[in-house]
Amino acid sequence: MIKRKKTREVRIGDVGIGGDNPVRVQSMCNTDTRDVAATVKQINELADAGCEIVRIAVPDTSAAAVLQQIRSESKVPLVADIHFDHRLALAAVDAGIEGLRINPGNIGGSDKVDAVVSAAAERGVPIRIGVNGGSLDKSLLEKYGGPTPEAMVESALEHVAMLEKRGFEDIKISLKSSSVLNTVAAYKLLGEKVDYPQHVGITEAGTLVRGAVKSSVGLGILLWEGLGDTMRVSLTHDPVAEVGVAWEILRSLGLRERGPEIVSCPTCGRTEIDLIGLAQQVEDRLREVEEVFTVAVMGCVVNGPGEAREADIGIAGGKGLGIIFRKGEVVRKVRGNENLLPEFMKEIEKFLEEKRGK
Ligand code: SF4
Repeated sequence: MIKRKKTREVRIGDVGIGGDNPVRVQSMCNTDTRDVAATVKQINELADAGCEIVRIAVPDTSAAAVLQQIRSESKVPLVADIHFDHRLALAAVDAGIEGLRINPGNIGGSDKVDAVVSAAAERGVPIRIGVNGGSLDKSLLEKYGGPTPEAMVESALEHVAMLEKRGFEDIKISLKSSSVLNTVAAYKLLGEKVDYPQHVGITEAGTLVRGAVKSSVGLGILLWEGLGDTMRVSLTHDPVAEVGVAWEILRSLGLRERGPEIVSCPTCGRTEIDLIGLAQQVEDRLREVEEVFTVAVMGCVVNGPGEAREADIGIAGGKGLGIIFRKGEVVRKVRGNENLLPEFMKEIEKFLEEKRGK
């Protein structure tokens, strides 16, 4: 059982982070923010996949100019990602964006920090300070001999101090490095020093498989240690996949569940159907289902139902047929390879209707 570190609560719109809230799942759009239709489409696809907060880049004034429209069409609270230009942060707050990701030390003079802080305070907009191991100040790199966890934490605390000095404590912190071990060490150190909620992630983790593995190991260790209040899995891929990976990490650790758990066998010499294709299609079709249940997709009738006895519903392939089972008990046989997916989906729909009717 994981005992989570107690942190303060901040709220991004109606989504609480830290305190007694569950670990939140977030992601970031990779659309051009100025393309409102594409950005809104992606935000809402992310939301349908279970993403609770979406971050969007605001690189210039034309992106800032469309924030209000994007905000009005988004299903979930948004965070504006801003670098260097405090006017973009003011515009984002004005547009009703619920969170800012900006480092106060990088936006120029003290008057600019004052302006952003007072606008954020007035509208109840939290600020995420995000330190990236790859962009630390030269002085810190020299002091610590590189982007060490200590250097990252010191950098974050410098930014924090600039906000605290102005009476602003509606803060989240992220410390990202593409090194799993450095990231873990940095968040642990940060957790010993302050109780602001932690936004956890492994940055530049890589393409789908590498990124999912690296993120799962890094986030898995942190979450197991009770750290992390909101998480982002970073992948060089469609961001919707990031959300799926994040939920699987949370499910694996028993922290949160959403949607079906799909168990499938690795296939072997007994497999006589296109099991890999079938499992993938079942997963794709169930992507937006929120109900928690277990689906098994197994390669053979000899071992399949038995191996997946705990599954709520499953299918096991044979020669030209599939056997549909519930909790290991056979309920139906389907003939013809082409009928396996449609008939199995019908049974899953039936199962879900019964479950929803309860
Ligand atoms: Fe092989 Fe059957 Fe086990 Fe799949 S369920 S790995 S096909 S024995």
